[in-house]
Amino acid sequence: MQGSLPVADRPRRPEWMKVRAPSADSRYYDVRKLIHGASLHTICEEARCPNIGECWGRGTATFQILGDTCTRACRYCYVHSGKPDGPPDPLEPLRLAQTAAQMGLKHIVITSVDRDDLPDRGAGHYAATIRALKRRFPAVSVEVLTPDFLDVEEDALRVVLAERPDVFNHNIETVRRLHARMRGAKASYDKALWLLRRAKEVVDYPVLTKSGIIVGLGETNDEVLETMRDLRAHGVDVVTIGQYLQPSAQHARIDRWVHPDEFRWFREQGEALGFGSVFSGPLVRSSYRADEQRHAAETGRGPVAY
Ligand code: SF4
Repeated sequence: MQGSLPVADRPRRPEWMKVRAPSADSRYYDVRKLIHGASLHTICEEARCPNIGECWGRGTATFQILGDTCTRACRYCYVHSGKPDGPPDPLEPLRLAQTAAQMGLKHIVITSVDRDDLPDRGAGHYAATIRALKRRFPAVSVEVLTPDFLDVEEDALRVVLAERPDVFNHNIETVRRLHARMRGAKASYDKALWLLRRAKEVVDYPVLTKSGIIVGLGETNDEVLETMRDLRAHGVDVVTIGQYLQPSAQHARIDRWVHPDEFRWFREQGEALGFGSVFSGPLVRSSYRADEQRHAAETGRGPVAY
């Protein structure tokens, strides 16, 4: 998965894609030490997220459970693909809860690699992690960004949602036309929509649902709008839209740099469709300022502008 484009072939990053390096006086290095010291993984590092300096500098991070090896190989994703080493680490939930406490997090975001090798696709480990967090801090909110739980969707949803996470997030990732090409034959656009709708049906509390779209993979703006319509039609409360960055020469090429004005248009369209919050901007990622996304959706304050 490593590698980079020859310099001449690299699409030049426009000004609006520039990110700040971690600053020495921020919390970045403390967060790094805590996470590495506890042998935890984060999607921030595994996916080479461009916001890591900002997010870790603010003392936040998104934990990645179930190891560092994914059983899928989506064409836009830098997370290592292959055969995972074995069953989930049973002590990971406790280490994660301990680390979240040391970081003083109020809103904790957990995601994972896909684990198609496990009979429950990792749902039990998600449940154990939420349980460990809620037991330790009943007042914090927990957001899960889950895989699609291939072929065990209903059972896995029930296991995860029985622990009452505050936000259920599942990324649709791209528009219908590109979905199979980017995500592979195991994933399904309609299954992703189903999972998001079904999450609300199987709970007896007001879970917030959320999904994310990556742009710059070859979609049109009208197709993005169509995907937002599909998400709203399946009851999704929060949507995030951000620019694709090609992580290596082996990954899908960047089709276009989406202009900030287009991101603004997506936000306005999403607002008109009735989302509680639309985070739409070049550097927006699913977990970017997730606490604010949730707050915006719950208070009806509306989407935050970038
Ligand atoms: S946007 Fe999400 S993945 Fe990226 S650094 Fe921030 S918390 Fe981590």
